[in-house]
Amino acid sequence: MLKPLLISLATLLAPATFTYAHVTTAMVAPADRIATAREVIANMQAAVAKGDADAYLALVDRAEHEWWHEQKAWAKDIAAKTPTAITITPGDDWTIGTFSDLPSVEVSLTWVWTPQADERVAAPQPKEDEQEPAQPRERELTFRGRFIERDGGLLYAGEAWQLVQREGVIVAFDPGLETAANAAAEAFAKIRADVEAELDVLGGPISTRTQRIKLYGSMRHLQHSIYPSYVFPLSGWNEPDESIKAVSRPDATEKSFIALLAHEYGHVASFELGPKANSMPWWILEGIAELMVDRHDENLAMRSRDQVKKWVKEDAMTPLAELADFEKVPLKLHGRVYRQGHDMMRFVTRHYGKADRNSWLRAMSSGESIEAAAQRELTESWDDVQAAWRSEIEQDLAAVPAEVPAEAPAGATGEPAKK
Ligand SMILES: [Zn+2]
Repeated sequence: MLKPLLISLATLLAPATFTYAHVTTAMVAPADRIATAREVIANMQAAVAKGDADAYLALVDRAEHEWWHEQKAWAKDIAAKTPTAITITPGDDWTIGTFSDLPSVEVSLTWVWTPQADERVAAPQPKEDEQEPAQPRERELTFRGRFIERDGGLLYAGEAWQLVQREGVIVAFDPGLETAANAAAEAFAKIRADVEAELDVLGGPISTRTQRIKLYGSMRHLQHSIYPSYVFPLSGWNEPDESIKAVSRPDATEKSFIALLAHEYGHVASFELGPKANSMPWWILEGIAELMVDRHDENLAMRSRDQVKKWVKEDAMTPLAELADFEKVPLKLHGRVYRQGHDMMRFVTRHYGKADRNSWLRAMSSGESIEAAAQRELTESWDDVQAAWRSEIEQDLAAVPAEVPAEAPAGATGEPAKK
């Protein structure tokens, strides 16, 4: 989680930033536009309630690459895990304006929905005097939404974000987060090249791409943006073709964004390794991302090592194969994905070198199994690699009395849970 920090001098002295003010003018929307938007909102609500992904996506604007991909994931979720209840209610604060040279309508949208129960989260136990087990809790969120006029109709374009734009990065942010958005843009410029170089993608297509970052004022808002069934605690998120997403406080500083963005941009860069990169085991994806934080947080490696030493000592390590599938790992093991994944990726890097590690990652990102990729690129069987890792931890344990840290709830980089 982001810690409260004073606004840094660097932020205050930051060079002039190109900040879009709200693109929308405060003109009240005419009645016919309001009626059309109400119809779109009602159709969105009906599509979500029915779990009809295609009907929902037909109402969504496709102009922004990242937004469209985020909404495809959102729609996939309503089909697979349809909320048990959903209402989307517009406020009375209708305005019109222009966005990307097209007429737009904006209004506050209040979403109230009940996600399906998630079997990966231990079900709350009913109290003795309760007849019924605890039901999944209703969720509520309000943000200002935007509808863009296309071909005479209106399409939903998501939040009416404000934007900070710098070279190579656009930061979209919730109201009140402008200082944080400038800090995030500064932090991104500082972590970018190192992450690309570590994964040997520097100079490739990624290096000239404009990275989009979205800052949310609450965890609830970030969770909602991922998809309606997402209920795990988190502070950052990235998936292929999506924005980097993060929860932010209004006073978040450049320093507070460094580790989070190094981690998330580590995901972005790892998706460059091949078409199947995102199908690599989850612990590898998080291990790579945590590796990118090492140069910015000298304690992270020790935290991961102390944690795995504790688990080895207690004979409580989770087999890596059980930490491979984001869709199946129970919430209580999420911390293992990060700590075991990070420590293992550090081991592989130390023992086989960065170049062979990256070749191994590339082989898996092209669809090769972890066993076949290890045999060729690390020239050892995957079982032997794991045994060598375990043996190193045991030697470490024998050499130094183990610290017994409290079990970290999850990723220590400010990202509790996320692929
Ligand atoms: Zn991650």
